Parts: sequence; structure tokens; C-alpha cells
Amino acid sequence: MEGSVIVTGGASGIGLAVVETLLGEGWRVVALDLAADSIAKAREHLAAHGERVRFETVDITEESAVAAAVARTAADFGPLKGVVNSAGIARDIPAFDTSVELFRKVLDINLVGSFVVAREAAKAMRETGGGSIVNIASVSGLRGNLGRSAYGASKGGVVTLTKILAVEFAPLGIRVNAVAPGPIETPLVRELLTAETRAAWLKTLPLRRTGTPQEVCGAISFLLDEQASSYVTGETIAVDGGFSAGGLINV
Ligand code: NAD
Repeated sequence: MEGSVIVTGGASGIGLAVVETLLGEGWRVVALDLAADSIAKAREHLAAHGERVRFETVDITEESAVAAAVARTAADFGPLKGVVNSAGIARDIPAFDTSVELFRKVLDINLVGSFVVAREAAKAMRETGGGSIVNIASVSGLRGNLGRSAYGASKGGVVTLTKILAVEFAPLGIRVNAVAPGPIETPLVRELLTAETRAAWLKTLPLRRTGTPQEVCGAISFLLDEQASSYVTGETIAVDGGFSAGGLINV
């Protein structure tokens, strides 16, 4: 593949699996993350890819840091052709226990951060013939999941932001889509799910199992591929073991 892709949250979980998949497809990849220990491990894990991958410590809520990272990527790795907005945090807390401070923090990272990265990336992409932006939403942005007032609202915002940016950026040759994962085995979900909530998820999922980070990558690769998904924009694809399709299932 010609050109470069930025993956936010690329040092862990779904983001890291995406970085590895895209390297395998021939992309040059810049991963932005905050967690120093995850970045160190990811660098070691992907060392064989040499200079085709770079990890940078960038907070996606910092506009000037994001703008600088986009400029460095285009200058060093070739025209920016794709972005995967995977950086995010999750909280599972009843609404009565959710402080305004926490609510704002979740929105700031998951929604505002995704917006900042998409906007800055689109500024670069419009100069070089367009590209594809993939936001990682969540099934909690599609359904009323218990305990997800802040997280679900942020991801519902990501789904709508995806549609709006798809419409605004279409004339620039930039497609914008989202992937909404169900429960995927990553550090985030292991921290989030108690034994009880895990059991409840397994009962509710038609496929009766959680997913792997690699199982989310196919939809993301499809949406980044200019030929395979050339007529797809503003769409959210659920990769969720059937969760968002489901209703009453046999228990
Ligand atoms: P993860 O915790 O393994 O990875 C998220 C990464 O984002 C971490 O490395 C973290 O350091 C980074 N990050 C957080 N805030 C950041 C910031 N301000 N700037 C830069 N990097 C930041 O989590 P994951 O499970 O891989 O989740 C990835 C995305 O997928 C998230 O947006 C999450 O909401 C979404 N998602 C995950 C699941 C799941 O079941 N794992 C389900 C639905 C949606």
C-alpha cells in the first residue's frame, strides 16, 4: 500500500492489532499513544518491521500535538491515506455515581479526541487526494447498556460524528466510517468486566463468546481499502458477535 496510516491508541488492544495488520498489508504506520509501558512493549513486539512503524507519545486531546504528529507522519512516511481512531477509555458506573468530571473526561478523550485527530488528518488528506478515516465506536454507542452513561454517550457521539464528517469531507475524497466492537479481549475490557458482567455478556451474545482484537481488524482493513470500500462512507459496522442484532435468545 502506498502512503501512511495513523493509529491512535496503537500501543494496546485493538489499536495494536490494527498496527500489526496494517504493517502486514504493506502500510507505513505511525501509532500515537500515551502509555509508556505499552509503547515500550509494542516497540519490542514489532521490532522486526524496522522503520515502517513508529510509536509516538501523543495525547489525542492536545490539538497542537496532534497537528504536529500529522505533519511529521506525512513528511517522514509519505502521504497520509488512513486514520484509525482507537484511543479511548471506558467506565462502567451507574449514572448516579458518575461525576460530571468523569463524564467530561470520557467525552474529552473518546469524542473530542477522535474529532481533533479526524479534523487534523483531513487537513493533510485534502492536500494529497483524500483518504479514509475509521473511528472505533462501540455497541455501547448503539444500545442502552447498563452503567455506560458517559462511555455510551461518547460512543453514540462518535457514530453521529462519523456521519457528519462523512458528509462534510466527501467532496475532498475523504471517506469516514466507524466500527462498533462488542466485547473484545483487551486490557480495557479485562479491567472493565467483573465475573458477573462477563457472564451476563456471554449469555446475551448470539455467538456466545467474546471477540479477539484480530477479529476487529478485517472490518477496519476493508474500510481503509480505497478499492474494496470506495462507495462506503458514513457507515458504522458492528463487529460484535451478533449483540446489536439480537433480541431474545435461547439460554
Ligand atoms: P486498550 O486500553 O487496550 O487501548 C486503548 C489505548 O488508548 C491505550 O493504549 C491507551 O493508552 C490509549 N489512550 C487512552 N487515552 C489516550 C489519549 N488521550 N491519547 C492517546 N492515547 C490514549 O483498549 P481497547 O480495548 O483496545 O480499546 C480500543 C478502542 O476500542 C477504544 O476506543 C474502546 O472504547 C473501543 N472499544 C473496545 C471494546 C472492547 O471490548 N475492548 C469494545 C468496544 C469499543
